[in-house]
Order: sequence, then structure tokens, then C-alpha cells
Amino acid sequence: MSFFLILKEWTILIWHNKLKVRYSYLSQQFSNCDDLWKNLKQFVKTGDFTLGKELFKFEKSFSKLIGTKYAVGVNSGTDAIKLSLKVIGIRPGDEVITAANTFVATVGAICELGAIPIFVDCDDSFCMDVNLVEKKITKKTKAIVPVHFTGYMTNMIKLNKIAKKYKIPIVEDACQSILASINNKNSGTWSDFGAFSLHPLKNINVWSDGGIIVTSNKKHYEHLKLLRNHGLVDRDNVKITGYNSRLDTLQAVVGNWLIPSAKKIANKRIENANFFDKGLKNIEEISIPPRLKNYKIVYHLYIVFAKKRDELLKYCLKKGIEAKIHYPIPMYRQPAMKFLKHKMGDFPVSDRHAKSIISFPCDQHLSKKQMNYIVKCVTDFYS
Ligand SMILES: *Cc1c(COP(=O)(O)O)cnc(C)c1O
Repeated sequence: MSFFLILKEWTILIWHNKLKVRYSYLSQQFSNCDDLWKNLKQFVKTGDFTLGKELFKFEKSFSKLIGTKYAVGVNSGTDAIKLSLKVIGIRPGDEVITAANTFVATVGAICELGAIPIFVDCDDSFCMDVNLVEKKITKKTKAIVPVHFTGYMTNMIKLNKIAKKYKIPIVEDACQSILASINNKNSGTWSDFGAFSLHPLKNINVWSDGGIIVTSNKKHYEHLKLLRNHGLVDRDNVKITGYNSRLDTLQAVVGNWLIPSAKKIANKRIENANFFDKGLKNIEEISIPPRLKNYKIVYHLYIVFAKKRDELLKYCLKKGIEAKIHYPIPMYRQPAMKFLKHKMGDFPVSDRHAKSIISFPCDQHLSKKQMNYIVKCVTDFYS
């Protein structure tokens, strides 16, 4: 069964059938927000659209939420990674180590600076297998970008030891992992830079594209503020060349409205994932990824390994469950990465995952009825 055939069937299904369990919950998240509209109305009257008061308020709340001294709002999660790498001084030809199975944005940010992504395979946590990092380090390695994929966390205890030994700075791609932690230390606080996305499909979102970088280093903070705003010190003085990468103040108003719910959102996702773990664990054909005790996983994606995955996906779609695959083709095998000259099998764990993973909706707006229905359908499929 080709992936495109599944896609086609899924499209037909949307036309003919109402989905019983949808993937995107955005219409629910903002269905009841009269108070937000009131805030926006007031905001619009101020005309404070760029680098406004509401933005600084949001940055303060975000850094407090994550546990760093500073935060800098930027226009996307991609730019959050790119600007952080820029502060480190990444230049064309430098090597940047990252995960082989990430979302394209991580790799895009590295390539935009002319640097070369050096991939490391993942383990069954979906994050970079840190045991494989050391042999990828060369004289050209100038940064490591671990991706806390799915809301799991990369083993930062071990990775930091390696980075320290070779004096290589780290930028955490924390785009999927707001409030994930190891030993209660949050994702984004394990290195000099934590890059977050505020894209509509991320756990905290601001209606359209947005991103934010956390750091506790004052020098990095000042540098990031220059980079996101053309390198302007003030209206008339340009210190460095930079970007137009400000987070819109209008979006910060949305962020300020949503951020008090951040912990509740994370906890609800964890609760839902625990429900699925329990409901699916006795199905022989399904295996649940490792759940380490000292790791808090926030389940931006809820993924399990499934036998007969393609058939299961097709079955779920037919039953009105919008299951997905993140992702069917690992980054290293994408046409855009041809210049790296990798071949099929270079990253065997990512390849195995691409064939066996399936993602189910796990968000805070799912009902118990919908969750029971997912468990029932998966159970029915195998029996
Ligand atoms: C969402 C995401 C990003 C950044 O994406 P933007 O759309 O630019 O906000 C980066 N890395 C990962 C792993 C992501 O999921």
C-alpha cells in the first residue's frame, strides 16, 4: 500500500464521512475566547505592533515558565534555531550534528547558514542516540542540535558531558517539548539556547507562525535581540547585520492569553498518553516506547510501534480516526539531502521507525469517548 494511496483515501474520507477523531483541535482551543477578543481590541487601539509591551510581557512569562533568565520572541521555531546558531558563530562549511529523523525545520535552519547537517540515528525514544555522537565529531564540528522529538527528551546528561569534553556548544531544538524535563529540569534549560516553536500545531501556539528562544546568558540575550531586529541598537544605529525576525506583538497578546494554561495542557496530554499506554499495552502487535521514570514526556506526538502498520493506518482512517505517521521518510533520505550522499540503511533505527510508527491524536481537547474509540478500533483491528 503506497503512502499516496492512503493519502487519497483519507481525502475522500473527509469528503464523505465526518471524522470521529480529528487530528487538529485548533477550532476547539479558540472556540471560547471572548476575553481574548477583548484584549485584542484594546491592543489594536494602542498601535504598539512591533516590539510592544505585550511582547515583553510574554517573553517574561515564557522564561519564567521554562526556568531561564531571558526569552526572545522570533518569527518561527526555525528562526529560533537559526538565530541561536548565528550567535554561536556558525558559518558556511561548519558541521552541525543533529538527529536523522527530525522535522525538516531543524535541518533547514542549519542549511540556511550554509552549514552541513551531520546526522545521528535515534533510539526508541525517537531522540538522538547520544552513544553515537562522539564518532561523528570532527575538527569542523561547531555545534550540536539535539531534537527533543515528540515531547520526549534527548539524554542531555550524557550529551552535555560529550559537548563539554570537546567544547562544542549546544542548541536544543525544544520545538515539540514545552515543559518536558529530565530530573525536573526543563527542556531548553540544559544548554545555552532552547529553541521553541509557537506554530499552530505546537502545544503553545499564537494563531500563526511564531517562535521563542530561552537563555540565561545575558550576552547571548543581547545578541539575539539585535539579530531579530536588523541589528538595530536604536532607531539610528546598526551594530551588526541581522534579520527581520520579530514575534508580532499581536501574537504575543494571544500568547499571554494561552500561557496560563501551559501546565494544564502538558498534564492533560500526559494523562491521555497514560490512558493510551494502558489501553494498548496488552495488544501483542503494539509496542509502547520506553517510559523512563525521571523523564517527563509531554507528548506533542503520541507514537507507538505497530505490526502491519500500513494496514492499521488504513483501518483507522476508514474508522474516522485521523492517525498519522511522523514521518514516513526520514530526513536523511529526502531529495533535499542528496548532497550528503547518504544511502538507504545508513540510519537503521530511523528506517525501522519509518516503517513501524503510528501517531494518534493525544491533545487536551480529546474526549474520553474518543480515546476509548481509538483503543477499541486498534484492539478490533488485531483481533
Ligand atoms: C515545529 C518544529 C520546528 C520549527 O518549526 P516552525 O514551523 O518554524 O515553528 C523545528 N523543529 C521541530 C522538531 C519542530 O517540530
